[in-house]
Amino acid sequence: MSVKEISEHIYMIDSLALGIEKFVAVYLVVGEEKNVLIDTSYASSFHVVTDCLREVGLKPADIDYVVPTHLHLDHSGSTSKFVSISSNIMVYCHPKAVKHLVDPSKLKTSVREIYGEYATLFGEVEPIPEKNIKSVEDGEELDLGDITLRFIHTTGHAPHHISVYVEEEGALITGDALSIEHPDYPSRFPTTPPPSYNHIEAINSLKKLSKLKPKIILKPHFGEKIPTSNYFEEEIRILEEWKNNVESSINMEPEAAFEEILRKYSEKMNIKLEEIPYHFLITLKLSFLGMRKYLSRQEL
Ligand SMILES: [Zn+2]
Repeated sequence: MSVKEISEHIYMIDSLALGIEKFVAVYLVVGEEKNVLIDTSYASSFHVVTDCLREVGLKPADIDYVVPTHLHLDHSGSTSKFVSISSNIMVYCHPKAVKHLVDPSKLKTSVREIYGEYATLFGEVEPIPEKNIKSVEDGEELDLGDITLRFIHTTGHAPHHISVYVEEEGALITGDALSIEHPDYPSRFPTTPPPSYNHIEAINSLKKLSKLKPKIILKPHFGEKIPTSNYFEEEIRILEEWKNNVESSINMEPEAAFEEILRKYSEKMNIKLEEIPYHFLITLKLSFLGMRKYLSRQEL
C-alpha cells in the first residue's frame, strides 16, 4: 500500500522514489475547500504520486496548492509537472526558492555536481511560470476551509526550507528540518547536505519547531512519529554529536574520514557495513560532505 490515512485530513503517500519503498513520502492535506500536496518527490515518481491521488479519489488537477518544503529534488522534483497539467495551481515556497523554480538551471547544475550520473534517475525538472508561485512569510497561514496550514521558515538544512504545521490536528510536516528515521532501523540520521547546510540555523529551527509542541510529526524520510517529551532535545543532541564526529576527523582525507564515521554508524545500527542500504549510504555521505563544508567555512 502506497497510501496511508494519517487522520481525517492527512494522507501519507509513499512515492516509491527511485524504486525504493519507505524512502520518500509526500503528504496530502484534504480541506473542505482546497487540497494541498506537501512535497512532490522526484519528477521520476510523478506517476506513482498521481496514481496514489486517484486512490483517494482525486485527479492531479484537483490539487490546488503544491508546497515543496525545499528545492532538493526528492522534495520539489515533480512540482513543475503538477503546474504543467493545471494552470491554476499555486506553488507556495520559501522566498529564496522562487527564482530557482522559475529558472531551475542553477539547481540542475548543482544537483549534477553533487550526484553525477546518478542524477539522471531523478527525472526532468522544468521552469515554472512566476504567476504560479507565491513565496510565504514565516508564520503565514493558508485556509483550506475547515483546516489551516501554517508555514514556518526552518532554514539550516537548506536556506530555502520551510516546514508546515496543520494547526487543528497538531501535525507537523517537517521536510528535512528533522533527522531521517527509517521504520525498519533503530537510528536517527542527521541530514546536513551540501552546498548550504548551516548548523546554527538548523539548531534554531529545531528550537522553533519544538515550541509548537506537535502531537504528531510527519517526515518525508520516513513516516509518522508520535514525539516523546524530549524529542526535539534529542534531535539537537544528534546534530551536535554529528558535528563533533565530523569535526574530529576534519584533518583526515575525506574518504578515510567517511569510512571511520560509517564504521561507527554500522556499529550503532547493529548492522554490517555491507548491509547498510544504498540510499542510506548516499544520505550519510552527503550529510558528511555538507557538515565538512560548513565546518571549513567557519575556519575561514
Ligand atoms: Zn533535503
